[in-house]
Amino acid sequence: MTRRVCILAQEALLPDLADVLRLFLGEIELCGAEAAEVCLRHELRDGGHACEIAGRGAFVPQGARGRDELEQKRFFKRAAKLAAYGALKSWTGLHPPWGALTGIRPTRLFFEQRAQGKAAKEAEEALIEGFDLLPEKAALLREIAGEQGALPAPGPGEIDLYIGIPFCKTRCSYCSFAAMDLRAGAKLTEPYVEALIAEMRLCAPSLKGFAPRCLYVGGGTPTALSVPQLARVLDEARALFPGFWEFTVEAGRPDSFGAGMLKMLKEKGVNRISVNPQTMNDQTLLRIGREHSAQETLRAFEAARELGFARINMDMILGLPGETLKDVEATLHALAALSPENLTVHTLAIKRASRLRQSGETAHSEEASAMVELAYREAKAMGMRPYYLYRQKYMAGNLENVGYAAPGQACAYNVGIMEEIIPNVAFGAGAISKWLYASGSRIERAPNVKSVEEYIARAPEMAARKRALWEGQDPCRLPDDKGREPR
Ligand code: SF4
Repeated sequence: MTRRVCILAQEALLPDLADVLRLFLGEIELCGAEAAEVCLRHELRDGGHACEIAGRGAFVPQGARGRDELEQKRFFKRAAKLAAYGALKSWTGLHPPWGALTGIRPTRLFFEQRAQGKAAKEAEEALIEGFDLLPEKAALLREIAGEQGALPAPGPGEIDLYIGIPFCKTRCSYCSFAAMDLRAGAKLTEPYVEALIAEMRLCAPSLKGFAPRCLYVGGGTPTALSVPQLARVLDEARALFPGFWEFTVEAGRPDSFGAGMLKMLKEKGVNRISVNPQTMNDQTLLRIGREHSAQETLRAFEAARELGFARINMDMILGLPGETLKDVEATLHALAALSPENLTVHTLAIKRASRLRQSGETAHSEEASAMVELAYREAKAMGMRPYYLYRQKYMAGNLENVGYAAPGQACAYNVGIMEEIIPNVAFGAGAISKWLYASGSRIERAPNVKSVEEYIARAPEMAARKRALWEGQDPCRLPDDKGREPR
């Protein structure tokens, strides 16, 4: 149910306060006071932020001053959000698992606390106290930070690379990516491969001074391309950007690849693949429009193992429509029997674009929290540890996505992209490049157009837009704010 809400606050605060409202009320529609069911009022007074909703209020002092204008703005918004959070919590009696955190990576806040000189345990406590995190979420952050701290930090001049293949065999009902159904887009795959190669060739000469570290080929479903098409893309990337040591291809849906594709990936040096079941329940697979069975997942995984893939990730989703805790348990047990090196546990986020949302068949589950806890326990039982985490809007139960890895098997690319600790040069429709500047914690982005047709027509322009990020720059990275020693 969408709630009509009015926010009375300065304009710059509206998006942040709306995010806090969504934490408690789910989907909202902003409107004027006369049409609203309820109003959230924010005002500055007595050196702080006062918020009030339905007769319940909270006050948060402005507190710490930022080191520069950007940080000052961030702290200002943070205090306003905390005041809104306090008022909403008092009114609804609810306690979201991640407390007042919206629009910020939880790990970033944890590392901010560490950078202030706090020990890991103190940082954990500061997040519970300052942002009202549930203790188990703060403990999870501490565990993840510990895992990341044990990984080698990116060195100066290192970059990661991403190639996006925005095609899928069919479209899953929960999908909100700009992935194109192959049944409609088959004639575009060849021009797309040409455009991708052109974009990479136009960027490669100016990246000569940098050291590629990881290449990640994602989608969509990269294996939706034909074997020769994907082989051409991989050959080109290897020739243009030599030296990367982690090479991931999301094989993705088990119905999208066979032995020929796996063999080609192995020959090209791919050393990490994903085989993504999402669930091992055939009825759910049918319901969400994935045209493969659990058996096909098993066969695909075994085929990959037989060909010698030693690092395989499996993705699963919690909170799928109709699934209970028992279904999730059955999926986790089936995956445990395969012993993958990586497990990525997503909590269903139904974005506006997905068919699932449009159909009104929401997958919201009261059990979402229990599912997340179960996945944590089962991953631990598989000998894995959580090593990265991110949150999205519209996630069931306001929860999180977590990547788990067996010891020594964490994916460096995933940590790099989630924590924004290394520049990321991204090719293909919808791909977003990010560049880090050594002068501070500044990150610039260069997004490519999302539409496949437009991308094909404008690939050279995308390359030029991206090159502007690094041309004239020294190889650099963010100052290490995580207590890590540069290599
Ligand atoms: S395989 Fe992934 S990208 Fe493709 S339609 Fe399904 S969810 Fe979307």
